[in-house]
Amino acid sequence: MHGPFEAGASRVYQRVAVLGVGLLGGSFALAIKRRGLAREVVGYAKSPSTLNAALAAGVIDHGADSALRAVTGADLVVLAVPVAATAALLKQIALGVSAGSLLLDVGSTKADVALAAQQALGARAGQFVPCHPIAGGEVSGVQHARAALFDGCRVVVTPLDENPPTLVDAACALWEGLGAHVARMTPAEHDAAFAAVSHLPHLLAFAYVQALTRQPKGGGYLQLAGPGFRDFTRIAASDAVMWRDVFHANGSEVLHQLQLFKQALAAFEAQLRQGNWSLLENLIRDASASRQAWSTPSVDDDIA
Ligand code: NAP
Repeated sequence: MHGPFEAGASRVYQRVAVLGVGLLGGSFALAIKRRGLAREVVGYAKSPSTLNAALAAGVIDHGADSALRAVTGADLVVLAVPVAATAALLKQIALGVSAGSLLLDVGSTKADVALAAQQALGARAGQFVPCHPIAGGEVSGVQHARAALFDGCRVVVTPLDENPPTLVDAACALWEGLGAHVARMTPAEHDAAFAAVSHLPHLLAFAYVQALTRQPKGGGYLQLAGPGFRDFTRIAASDAVMWRDVFHANGSEVLHQLQLFKQALAAFEAQLRQGNWSLLENLIRDASASRQAWSTPSVDDDIA
C-alpha cells in the first residue's frame, strides 16, 4: 500500500483511525494533521457526544459509529482509551485490520497492553507496537486536546517479539515526526520504571489529598495552602478511571514501590519521633541533592 519506509522520516498515512478521542487521542489527531503526516483522520469514541465534540472542534475529519468501521481501510490505527478497554477494543477490530497497517497505543502501562494485543490480534499481533508518550496532564477529554502535546516529549516504545523491525522503526519515525524523542525498552522494564516515577507518585498524591480533606479542619487548611501544596498535589486532580486502570494493570510493581516508599517514610518518621534532627537533616539533604541533580528536557510534561 505504501512505498518503502525511509529510516528517520515518517511516511504519510492515508487514513488514520483514532480510537478514543480524548486528551491523548485528540492531541494525536491534531498533531499528525498539523505535521502533514495524515491525509484523513477518522475517530471513534464510546459516546456520540465525544465524537460530535471532536468533529465540531475539527480534531477529526470523520466520525465512525463503530471501532471496526473506523479501522477499515486505515493504514494507521491508534488506540487512546483507558488501558482496561484495550483488550475488548482489539477484539472488536481484529477482523478489520488491514494487512501492512501499523497499530499502536498510548496507554500508561505496557505489559497488559502487550498481552492484550498478543491474545486479541492473533496473526496480526506483529502489527501492534505498544507505545507510551510521556505527555498529558491532570485534565482529560477532547476539549483539552492540543496539537503541540507531543512536542519535545519522550515516547517509550516497547516492541513485541512479533514486531518486524521495520514496523518498530516506522512507529519510532512517526513519533519523531510528531516532535517526540523515542526510547525503547521491554514492556516489563517500562512498567517497573513507571511504577516508580509515575504510578506511585499519583497514588501518594491521591492518598495525601484524601487524608487532608477528610480531617475536620481540612477544608480550612486547604484555604491556606500555597505553591508547594499546588506542585505536590497537582496530579491528584487526575482522571479516576484512567488511574484505577493503571493501578489494576501494574499493581504488583506499584506495591513493590510502595514498600520501598514506606521504608523511606519510616526512616523519616523515626528521626522525627526520636528528635534526631541532624539525622533528619541528612535525609532531607540527600533527597534535596538528588532532586536538584535531576533534570529532564520535558519537565513540564506529565509522567503518566
Ligand atoms: P481521556 O481524555 O479520558 O480520553 C479517553 C477516550 O477514550 C475518550 O474519548 C473515551 O470516550 C474513550 N473511551 C473510553 N472507553 C472506551 C471504550 N471502551 N471504547 C472506545 N473508546 C473508549 O483519556 P486520556 O487522558 O486521553 O487517556 C487515554 C490513554 O492515554 C489512557 O490509556 C492513558 O493511560 C494514556 N495516557 C494518558 C496520559 C495523561 O496524562 N492523561 C499520559 C500518557 C498516556 P468517551 O469520551 O465517549 O467516554
